[in-house]
Amino acid sequence: MHIDQLIRSRRKTVALIVERDGQLTVRAPLRLSLARIQEMVEQKADWVRRKQAQSRAASPTSPPRQFAVGETFLFLGQPYPLEIVPRAADPLQFEELFLLDQRAIPRARDIFTNWYKSQARAIFTERANEYARRFGFSFDRLRISSARTRWGSCSSRATLSFTWRLVMAPPDIVDYVIVHELAHLREKNHSAAFWAVVQAILPDYKTRRKWLKTNGGQLTLD
Ligand SMILES: [Zn+2]
Repeated sequence: MHIDQLIRSRRKTVALIVERDGQLTVRAPLRLSLARIQEMVEQKADWVRRKQAQSRAASPTSPPRQFAVGETFLFLGQPYPLEIVPRAADPLQFEELFLLDQRAIPRARDIFTNWYKSQARAIFTERANEYARRFGFSFDRLRISSARTRWGSCSSRATLSFTWRLVMAPPDIVDYVIVHELAHLREKNHSAAFWAVVQAILPDYKTRRKWLKTNGGQLTLD
């Protein structure tokens, strides 16, 4: 775990401070060895990562992503930290945190994008099939787009499209966008009849829609 700033003083104990920008400051006694400090930080690593994820999520002007250790990446609404590993079978693995092979750092953006795309395809297909089956919709195919602001669309040929960025959103929000596009199979426009179809399936759709309007900008790899 990376220490951004180490401040030694005549104190007796070690204190870990996660700054507002997610940087880790450690305050330590003058003579405590670096190895011992590092060890204490590792023991608190889970706590630090959780705090860093919180402060990054709360920070309105987060710096551009560098694919560095400790940066967090959203998946189904949860932030997961990035760890860099020296050598791995796959360039990117997900195990409640993201493990990126050090050699893959220069291609990190593409690798993450591809990972999100494949997750998006699997999860959206499963959810769309589930809602289609339960509520009697039929669509022709489902494709994954790279749209930045358009979460989903529904073509006249019954093709549903969803941007891979949506897989960063919580499951409730994913479901809302899927139901929204399925409802367009019945009602093309955003008429009262259209919203009645959505509401019949998701009575709380307004809350979900509002969440997306407010937080959609955070669903990004930028
Ligand atoms: Zn629509």
